[in-house]
Amino acid sequence: MMNLSSTMNAYGCRYCVSPLKQLLHTTNHHLRFRPCSPSLFSSSFNNLKLPNFNLLLTSNSFFFTMEHLWDRSGMNTNKKMVEHLQQYGVISSEKVARVMETIDRALFVPDKTPAYADCPQEIGYNATISAPHMHATCLQLLEEKLQPGMHALDVGSGTGYLTACFAMMVGPQGRAIGVEHIPELVASSINNIEKSAAAPLLKKGSLSMHVGDGREGWPECAPYDAIHVGAAAPEMPQALLDQLKPGGRMVIPVGNIFQDLKVVDKNPDGSISIRSESSVRYVPLTSRDAQLQS
Ligand code: SAH
Repeated sequence: MMNLSSTMNAYGCRYCVSPLKQLLHTTNHHLRFRPCSPSLFSSSFNNLKLPNFNLLLTSNSFFFTMEHLWDRSGMNTNKKMVEHLQQYGVISSEKVARVMETIDRALFVPDKTPAYADCPQEIGYNATISAPHMHATCLQLLEEKLQPGMHALDVGSGTGYLTACFAMMVGPQGRAIGVEHIPELVASSINNIEKSAAAPLLKKGSLSMHVGDGREGWPECAPYDAIHVGAAAPEMPQALLDQLKPGGRMVIPVGNIFQDLKVVDKNPDGSISIRSESSVRYVPLTSRDAQLQS
C-alpha cells in the first residue's frame, strides 16, 4: 500500500526513478527526491523554488523520455496500466480496477501523448489530466460514496475522465456532475466521454458536464454523497462543504505551494471530520483569468 506519510505528487511518476532523477539532476537541483519504497516514487521540496517542477514534469522532452520507457516496458494498453497500478499496490479495490479498465484513458489525453504512463499530461489552458495513480487514489477514497444510485460532483473536471468513472460507478440511477470553468475543456470533455463506455450515461443525462466556477459547487443537484476536487483550493470552500450530504465524503487538495489531499467526512449529525491523506501537488482552484494568465 501507499506510504501515507510520504509526498504523493499529482505530477509525479512512480515507475521512472532513474530517468526522472537524471532529468532533475540536470535541470533543477532545488528538488530533493527520495524513494519511499522500492516501487513507489515520491518527492519532497526543500525550498520554495518550485515553478520549474510542473514545466519539467509536463515538458515534451520528459514525455518523449517517458514514451520510450513505457514502450519498452510494454505499458501500451489501458489494461496493462491498471495491472501495473494493482501490482504496485496503488489499486487494491476490484471495483476501481474494473472502472479504470472500462474507461480507456487514451480517449481523454491529447493525441501523441503516452496515454498509459503514470504521469500527468498537459491538456491546454494551464491544466493537466492527473496521473493515473492520483485518479486511482481518489476513486478508492471515494468508493464507498460512489455506490449505485448515489450523487457525485467532480469539480475541475478537465478532460472528464474522472467524472466518467464516477458515472460508471453510480450507474444510470445515480448522478455524476462535472464542473469546469474553461468552456473549451468542457466541450472537449463531452467529446471524450462520447467516445467512451460512459457515453450512454451522458446521453441518458445521469452524467452531465457544465461550465461554471467549481468553487461554488453545483447547487442544482446538491447534496452529494461524493465530491472530488481536481485542483488545489487555498482553503476549504464553504459552498462545497454545504453541498456535501450528511454521511458524504469530499476529497480535496488544500494549500498553495505545499498542499495536502484532505479527506472530509460530513458526519450524520452534520459535523465535519477532516484528515490529511498525503502531500500532493495540483494546479490551483482559482478564477479563470488567474489560471489563463499564470
Ligand atoms: N481532474 C481533471 C483535471 C485536473 S486539472 C482531469 O484529471 O482531467 C484541474 C482542473 O481544474 C483544470 O481543468 C482547471 O481548468 C480546473 N479549475 C481550476 N479552477 C477552477 C474553478 N474555479 N472552477 C472550475 N474548474 C476549475
